[in-house]
Amino acid sequence: MYYPFSWLKSLLRIAAFYAIVVAAGLYFDEPTLAIALGSSWLLGFYCWQLYRFNRWVWHSKKMTPPKANGFWEHIYEGVYYIQRRNRRKRKELTKLVKRFREGSEALPDATVVVDANASIVWCNRLARIELGLKWPQDNGRRIDNLIRHPNFIEFFHSGDYDFPIEIPSPSNIQKIFEYRIVPYGDKHLLLIARDVTRLTQLEQMRKDFVANVSHELRTPLTVLNGYLEMLPNVDEIPPAFLNKALVEMRSQSERMQNLVEELLVLSRIEASSERVFEKVVKVPRILEAIRSEATTLNSDKQHQLTFDINPKLEVYGIETELRSAFSNLIFNAINYTPAKGKIHIAWQLKNGKAQFSVTDNGEGISEKHLNRLTERFYRVDKARSRKTGGSGLGLSIVKHVLTHHNSKLDIASEVGKGSCFSFSFSNELIVSSVKHTALKL
Ligand code: ADP
Repeated sequence: MYYPFSWLKSLLRIAAFYAIVVAAGLYFDEPTLAIALGSSWLLGFYCWQLYRFNRWVWHSKKMTPPKANGFWEHIYEGVYYIQRRNRRKRKELTKLVKRFREGSEALPDATVVVDANASIVWCNRLARIELGLKWPQDNGRRIDNLIRHPNFIEFFHSGDYDFPIEIPSPSNIQKIFEYRIVPYGDKHLLLIARDVTRLTQLEQMRKDFVANVSHELRTPLTVLNGYLEMLPNVDEIPPAFLNKALVEMRSQSERMQNLVEELLVLSRIEASSERVFEKVVKVPRILEAIRSEATTLNSDKQHQLTFDINPKLEVYGIETELRSAFSNLIFNAINYTPAKGKIHIAWQLKNGKAQFSVTDNGEGISEKHLNRLTERFYRVDKARSRKTGGSGLGLSIVKHVLTHHNSKLDIASEVGKGSCFSFSFSNELIVSSVKHTALKL
């Protein structure tokens, strides 16, 4: 059992030892020799203890100290206590570092720790995936040797980290990363790279959108302005030309109105929080109304229009949006099919889904355009589309409406043969009475 150290006890022990040595010296009448021998023994004993102590501290694998008494026991216990304390602290520290690393691994951004010599000290999993770093091979390697983009190297060495920079990912140039550097501690740097591809794309889309809208509005406005500039000299304008000018001005202002209305429809659909599952839309009635509008629109081209409508097939949805989707597809077929074509419109229950399709035998669309048709302002043939009054927003509206109704537009087209635009609504959107009728059939 270990007793606490007492100076008094240790001094008393030494005193007792010398008392015995002196007594023995006096007995043999050689007190000086006895003291010298006693001191040498004591010195030898202390040297032996120092040797044991040194061997235990530096060479022994055992944590527990060797047996000792008195003063030496106290030293051994003291060192043993410090060792245990350090061990506990090291364990706690290891746990803390582990927890920190686990937390950093879970970060949604690629993170790299760099020391004062620009060498990598640590990086998380995302940094390995997105920045192409290898762990542990890249431990200690210079970050500017691994991320070689000139903009990054300039940014890294500038020392001015107030604003982040955006550069493509070293492992995939399609992805854009925002690099941020945060200095901390002893000249260490925390490099954080965030994937901003989507944001950059959105920003580009916004710029394109503004550019497209401005471009679309500029042409009719230029035409209108041109004619309006002539009006002060209206008496000098031949009546036939004036008539033509008025017809053109009207057509251009209608085009602008059409564009603005379609933009409003699009933004309304995008902002709409209306719930799709609440109201029943009587699709057959809507298609009947569109049919009479289509007949009027068809008077010039004289297509053969056929409708195959299930009169009972109603769905849950948003009426204004669905009306817009149906009419856009039907009117497009009429507008883009050369005169005297065949257009078939179907609204039927198929494989438990409500399916709508518009099939024409027009010129068709080549495959390279198909994926882009639903982009805003995308037109296969700009000049022809403008002649029909098209803004290039129709199919974009259809796409948004369908997304809102958990559906998507399918386009099948073959150049020279025609196109089929179709979509279907899932069973959950079909009004139940129709489902039952269909089952009975
Ligand atoms: P627009 O308002 O110009 O008609 P849309 O978004 O409705 O724009 O259509 C985009 C383009 O898709 C049109 O410019 C046209 O070239 C093409 N398109 C749409 N429907 C058809 C169709 N039935 N046949 C051939 N081309 C079509």
